[in-house]
Amino acid sequence: MASFQIHAWKWKCCVRSVRYVSRQQSSGSCAHEEQLCRLFFFCIPPQPENISTRLAFLFCFSSSPTSLPFAAAHSIAQTAAATTMTEAEASETTKKKKQQQQQQQPQQHKCDGNGSNGSVAPEAPIEDVFDHTYREREGPKPASVIVWKNVLLMSVLHAGAAYGVFLVPSASPLTLLWSVLCFLISALGVTAGAHRLWSHRSYKASLPLRIFLGAANSMAFQNDIFEWARDHRVHHKYSETDADPHNAVRGFFFAHIGWLMVRKHPDVIEKGRKLELSDLLSDKVVMFQRKYYKPSVLLMCFFIPMSVPWYLWGESLWVAYFVPALLRYTLVLNATWLVNSAAHMWGNRPYDKTINPRENKFVTFSAIGEGYHNYHHTFPYDYATSEFGCKLNLTTCFIDSMCFLGLARDPKRVSKELVQARMQRTGDGSPRSG
Ligand SMILES: [Zn+2]
Ligand SMILES: [Zn+2]
Repeated sequence: MASFQIHAWKWKCCVRSVRYVSRQQSSGSCAHEEQLCRLFFFCIPPQPENISTRLAFLFCFSSSPTSLPFAAAHSIAQTAAATTMTEAEASETTKKKKQQQQQQQPQQHKCDGNGSNGSVAPEAPIEDVFDHTYREREGPKPASVIVWKNVLLMSVLHAGAAYGVFLVPSASPLTLLWSVLCFLISALGVTAGAHRLWSHRSYKASLPLRIFLGAANSMAFQNDIFEWARDHRVHHKYSETDADPHNAVRGFFFAHIGWLMVRKHPDVIEKGRKLELSDLLSDKVVMFQRKYYKPSVLLMCFFIPMSVPWYLWGESLWVAYFVPALLRYTLVLNATWLVNSAAHMWGNRPYDKTINPRENKFVTFSAIGEGYHNYHHTFPYDYATSEFGCKLNLTTCFIDSMCFLGLARDPKRVSKELVQARMQRTGDGSPRSG
């Protein structure tokens, strides 16, 4: 009886929150969406049969092209409107929503005509948009200076990873599962963290999420977040020029790994120094990770992946070092590098045929959603990096889930109309799925 009363109370709260959301929506304010969605989520009675309801609720919205909290609140509000609002109130709400949409659409279209690659959102950081004014220096290019230490380290790493492949059959199933988990966590540290959050500011993350992504980024060991985000902004701003750190015009090998084996082109250094990076400098998680980068890498990239299988299920330290640590690390590195190499060379260009980045399904799969690269360079501020929400895009699913749980907010999105207009204006006419 007591249990029934608690559940009845929870559902009352739920209905109240739904009504509140609908009122907030009709007045154009979405300030409390996240909290209310969260409340709705946790109001579902915690009996075993409702676990599937909760999960279904979580995942059915994760494929939505708009943000999860918004989609959830919108859906809840529509249900509530059908049962609690009068027809007059509902039509008033619809009118107001239409007015809001009309006010928003010209803003977005205005962005398409500002002459900067058609992709600047009003609040987007300007530093990740292609700079048409940059001109490469005339005369012969400076000779590449090989950094032999890096050549040696990369060679040893890849030899160790190749040996790790031979050890895979001798690893226990739990160790293999753990390796996959470490792969996904470290990949998210790059894609959801260093890339979509810190390089492009395409969504906002709470402190706990930023700490998780910072630790996950150390697990990926691809330079600290500050350096990664700075190089990536330079890559977008001066793509396919001398100032691009991994200029794909210099060939697959250079764009993939070669750029880490030679001294940077002087323009990369100069343009990197001039970038506006105050948002990164003021982010305590970014600065903390930069300060303690080496110990954090030792802990996250090597010690934890190696010691967990050894301590928890008795895996040999030898296998635990070569498979979840070294092989997994090398695979994440190469998956990320494929975005710079393969996704800048092979694939179609449905959004902008005037730029090199392309839609590449293999890269999308291996880099958990980062292969929709023609779309991404055309609209760098879109948190999903594609039109298709969670399709082949685990990173977008992850961000959606974080939004749903209230740990992330304000994911930026490009309107369908703007995408269509841009495709007609600059696309190559090929199908969009890559
Ligand atoms: Zn990017
Ligand atoms: Zn790129």
